[in-house]
Amino acid sequence: MPTDILQLPLQQFKGVGPKVFEKLNAMGLRTIEDMLFHFPLRYQDKTRLTAIGELREGMDAVVRGTIRASGIARGRRPTLIVKVDDGTGLITLRFFHFRRAQALQLKVGEIITLFGQPRLVGGQPEFAHPEYQVGERETQLEEALTPVYPTTEGMGQSTLRNLARQALTYLAKNPPDDLLEGRLKEGPSMADAIALLHQPPAGVNTQSILEGRHPAQLRLASEELIAHQISMLSRRARTLQLQSARAVAAGKIAKAIIETLPFSLTSAQKRVCSEIVEDLKKSTPMLRLLQGDVGSGKTLVAAVSAAHMVEAGHQVALMAPTELLSEQHFRGFNQWFEPLGIKVLWLTGQIKGKARREALAAVEEGKIDIVVGTHALFQEHVSFDSLGLVLVDEQHRFGVNQRLSLTRRGKDDITPHQLTMTATPIPRTLSMVAYADLDCSVIDELPPGRKPITTVLIDTARRQQVIDRVGAACREGRQAYWVCALIEESDALQANAAEIAAAQLSETLTDLKVGLLHGRLSADEKAEMMAAFAANRIDILVATTVIEVGVDVPNASMMIIENAERFGLAQLHQLRGRVGRGAIESHCLLMYQSPLSQTARQRLVVMRESQDGFVIAEKDLSIRGPGEVLGTRQTGLSSFRVARLPEHEALLESAQTVAEELVRDDPKRAEQIESRWTRAREAFAHV
Ligand code: ADP
Ligand code: MG
Repeated sequence: MPTDILQLPLQQFKGVGPKVFEKLNAMGLRTIEDMLFHFPLRYQDKTRLTAIGELREGMDAVVRGTIRASGIARGRRPTLIVKVDDGTGLITLRFFHFRRAQALQLKVGEIITLFGQPRLVGGQPEFAHPEYQVGERETQLEEALTPVYPTTEGMGQSTLRNLARQALTYLAKNPPDDLLEGRLKEGPSMADAIALLHQPPAGVNTQSILEGRHPAQLRLASEELIAHQISMLSRRARTLQLQSARAVAAGKIAKAIIETLPFSLTSAQKRVCSEIVEDLKKSTPMLRLLQGDVGSGKTLVAAVSAAHMVEAGHQVALMAPTELLSEQHFRGFNQWFEPLGIKVLWLTGQIKGKARREALAAVEEGKIDIVVGTHALFQEHVSFDSLGLVLVDEQHRFGVNQRLSLTRRGKDDITPHQLTMTATPIPRTLSMVAYADLDCSVIDELPPGRKPITTVLIDTARRQQVIDRVGAACREGRQAYWVCALIEESDALQANAAEIAAAQLSETLTDLKVGLLHGRLSADEKAEMMAAFAANRIDILVATTVIEVGVDVPNASMMIIENAERFGLAQLHQLRGRVGRGAIESHCLLMYQSPLSQTARQRLVVMRESQDGFVIAEKDLSIRGPGEVLGTRQTGLSSFRVARLPEHEALLESAQTVAEELVRDDPKRAEQIESRWTRAREAFAHV
């Protein structure tokens, strides 16, 4: 088997002693195949000479000329400055760090060959610290572009280039099987594609490689996406072999809850509820993603699903990303279910010692019907009597892998159905990749009567005006959130910023009640503060991003976000989603610190122009890329070696079809493809 040769360890290569091998290992590079799949980040073009007169800003350029001047400029920091002329123009070299010998070597009259990326300063080209070679010798131009590899400290480019070169000779002699024969549109073979990306011949359009459009990349990306789809399909197939609780209930409890509501379900909520209820009747576990923009009413859908499961005699677990949100869910669920004799438990971190043991025992004995908590619920080993359904709120906060750990928890043989909810609208492309193993339901409608939120951008310099405006609005009975943020994620620093803002606001607005909410408060303190705000005993709630997700206080109609430029779009959308939940017209004030970078401005303008989570998410994806949008670790996308989104979006549809065909018609081959790319991915995950 030719592929086996590529599994040989790199140790047998020239230049790989135990030390180097250890370093390579730490980078996840063990085998020849690993090296082949370790693709360059970019390339240097040393294949031709460029005339100084033709240099453009930032291009890779090899330049050859004669030194016309050389000297040290004394200043706070001495700088070696050299001028080189090739007959078409003059270029300035600057060395901020240099050795004496260097200064002596770069003498007037010497011929010098340089490589670097010029900057144009006042129209004149300059190189800072270029690579160079002094002397008359014939300049050695490279035949192929020079790869620049991702690397770690202590591992030089020359070592990696050398290893890649050796690996490519193995590849040429042992080309890997084309596992996709005839299933892709024409394109280079696997071996050719790999070789091309390591050593693009002179003249290749590197721009197309950098943008991911080169046929070699398309070939590899197609296979990688197919491999990914195969793994999603097999994960799905595995769940279909599991037994779940069949909840064939009349729906009496759900009906009773809905009847107590002061409103009726939107048609989108009804449709989604029936999709879920259909799934719950099956004997294989549901794996469903519920997407709905902020404020679309996902909680109620969760409650209806829970009602069916409880009616069928099984338990339900509801997990929220924060204690604060879990408390809110508990209050909501308790209010709905308790009057019907259904026991809801809030398993907060605050319940400790004996009380906790008793609570856990009650869950295990089946005396509790619905357990509400954070994901810590599943990190510690809570056992159930018969867990039929797991509801995960704000899925994006947990990560995809989390769903794997949500397996059997009950004493019986059943694997719970799973409904994950997210308000982070996931662009279709992304969900095709990241959530391909889930079914999807979408609430594409907001409850009636919602007024649009007016969003304005305000320079922080006008902070006082903002305070006055918020004060005036609150005196008319409105309530506001005031969100502070720092770049640092540290709870302590964030809390500090919020404390300062709260102090300032209460000093200025003496007649108003200012509350403070941050991550350093205990769960009880947070819950108390939220309850006071919900009961309108507080006018302005100064908070950190702890209120980002889920918090629901319909009377709050103003959202002020300080340093809005530091937030991602998804986060801003979430935060803004805390208002606009009632019938009052809402406002969102995004304060920013000038000057704004171009992308920051772009982001804030998107927020001002749109309130549609899907539009915002698509924009976010194009501004930031998928890893950032969903959180890299969550998506598993960061571990793609060649495939990129949204650049390779067009390949997805066919990747899905091919993967389905392969799994159906040739499972062995499907497995080979999956494992080839999984090996590569596992290796990469270590870098
Ligand atoms: P999200 O989807 O962001 O989790 P929530 O479930 O918190 O939204 O619901 C937002 C608000 O809308 C809540 O105050 C909830 O009571 C209310 N709500 C939910 N469904 C409806 C409906 N069909 N009609 C009117 N209000 C609704
Ligand atoms: Mg919610």
